[in-house]
Amino acid sequence: MTSPADLLTRFAPSPTGYLHLGHVVNAIWVWGIARARGARVLLRLEDHDRTRCRPAFERALLEDLEWLGFEPDVGPIAGFRDGPSPFRQGDCGEVYEAALARLGGGALVYACDCSRRTIAAELGDVANRETPYPGRCRERGLEPGPGRGIRVALPPGVVRFVDGLLGEQAQEPARQCGDLLLRDRLGQWTYQFAVTVDDMRHGVNLVIRGEDLLPSTGRQILLAGMLGRPEPPMFFHHPLIRKPGGAKLSKADRDTGIREMRAAGMAAAEVIGRAAHLSGLLPEPTPLAPSEAAALVSARVGG
Ligand code: GLU
Repeated sequence: MTSPADLLTRFAPSPTGYLHLGHVVNAIWVWGIARARGARVLLRLEDHDRTRCRPAFERALLEDLEWLGFEPDVGPIAGFRDGPSPFRQGDCGEVYEAALARLGGGALVYACDCSRRTIAAELGDVANRETPYPGRCRERGLEPGPGRGIRVALPPGVVRFVDGLLGEQAQEPARQCGDLLLRDRLGQWTYQFAVTVDDMRHGVNLVIRGEDLLPSTGRQILLAGMLGRPEPPMFFHHPLIRKPGGAKLSKADRDTGIREMRAAGMAAAEVIGRAAHLSGLLPEPTPLAPSEAAALVSARVGG
């Protein structure tokens, strides 16, 4: 059994924009469950999408996190300012290359030149639902190269896991997403691949993230097994903040940007209290230190 000293979770933002209240909610849950379970928190920067990530967003993200007072136990903030880091995906291309080679030893990994448009045309009307890749390139034997992505064939079947907040889950990755894209047509590692490789190599055994990522979990468990991970991590998917009308928050929502709130003179404790309130952890937006916000989560999940 894993002892608390060995438990490691992560806070893993993508620097595709500025930090917003959704990130603060995630930080509250990550540090809260970590403190309740005696786990350490790793900071990882998920800048796999080179077209959307910017160094300026990364600098701002680190500064805002520091200002809020959430301190990682592993992957200290200063380490990212010093240069390349094993916890920044953009610095780790050779790690993903090696993982891809390993995966190709036991699974069907193939090049694919399908664009989103080709896939949509093949599938017909798919508005508002996830489109499983229909397998068009599986038997084509394309050589990998520029303009071609890389996919892995997923075995059919149900993946079951118990979510720490949502209970028993059953997902069918092969039906939900089809053969998983590992590298896109621009040569960028995908979120699903990079995060699975990273959780494995960093020794992350406790994953705490928003409910919007729940459908990713079955495919990450499956992929981790194919990469040789003996035991998947434990998963907790927490509620997201919803805007009036039920829409999800996005980085484009300037009213929720930490930078804007700082500029308007709010204190870090007020921002954290607002996030805790919007995520249903507090009846009123009362100012809170990071440790007090974490204690609210600990009280929910038990020690
Ligand atoms: N990098 C992802 C995001 O910013 C989080 C990934 C994860 O927690 O698995 O949404």
